[in-house]
Amino acid sequence: MKKMIQPWLHAFLAFCLSGTLQAAENPDWTAPLEPFAIADHLYYVGSRDLASYLVTTSEGNILINANLATSPAQIKASVEKLGFRWADTKIFLNSQAHWDHVAGAAQVLRETHAQNLVMAEDAEVMRTGGKSDFAANTDGIFTYEAAPVDRELHDEDVVSLGEMKLTAHKTAGHTRGCTTWTLRTTLDGQERDVVIVGGLMYLTQYHLVDKPGQPASYPGIAEDFRKTFGEMPYYPCDIFLGAHGIYFDMLAKLDRRVKQGSQVWLDRDGYLRLLEKTRQAFEAEVVRQSR
Ligand SMILES: [Zn+2]
Repeated sequence: MKKMIQPWLHAFLAFCLSGTLQAAENPDWTAPLEPFAIADHLYYVGSRDLASYLVTTSEGNILINANLATSPAQIKASVEKLGFRWADTKIFLNSQAHWDHVAGAAQVLRETHAQNLVMAEDAEVMRTGGKSDFAANTDGIFTYEAAPVDRELHDEDVVSLGEMKLTAHKTAGHTRGCTTWTLRTTLDGQERDVVIVGGLMYLTQYHLVDKPGQPASYPGIAEDFRKTFGEMPYYPCDIFLGAHGIYFDMLAKLDRRVKQGSQVWLDRDGYLRLLEKTRQAFEAEVVRQSR
């Protein structure tokens, strides 16, 4: 009997994968977006889909993601529009060492002299500009300008600057060092937990199942994805964010923010829904590749 793919799953996969397949043509990756405050100490400085975040402290600022090679000027303009100084960027972090999140890293580091902290399993990928990525030069995985790494991070390492602390969770699979960041801040006077999802989807060219003559994309890729899906539901999450705006439905929430205010970012249910959808898609793909 032919196994039926649930319609929502099909649509969701097409939606997620189109980001990679049509990378160059996705206008939301380069279209500017008015920068905005998400919560205290936390700002959005990315484009309409490629997310960059600025975490501000009394000791300088932390930038998460540099996006495309053409993005740094846009990110810098957003930081300055919010009243912060580009040169006060002391630490640079990323969600994953794919080109759409770190191709602009080398330029950001040159301009700001920030320290580049990278999850150990993605560090060599960034140092080689993507050439050592297990999926380098396959569909939509492009190389980029190599960037120096100042410190390698490990799962659950804490990055501190001034009064802010960010925890680096290794949520591997999409890349070997894919990183989900969590932090605590206040929103409308209340303490809140923030999750910035690093990346969850397998790409269509990934081999998740080790077969004779067709090894897994990297040893342990399926185990990495399962660890990611197993742990992430337990991260404390009030404010749900991610490396792409589509992960957390950012544009729709921005529309609703006009009436609802910043409370619109509180979406633990949406976070858990994304995890469950992507987990199911992953498990269905493992079944498919096992046949
Ligand atoms: Zn990616």
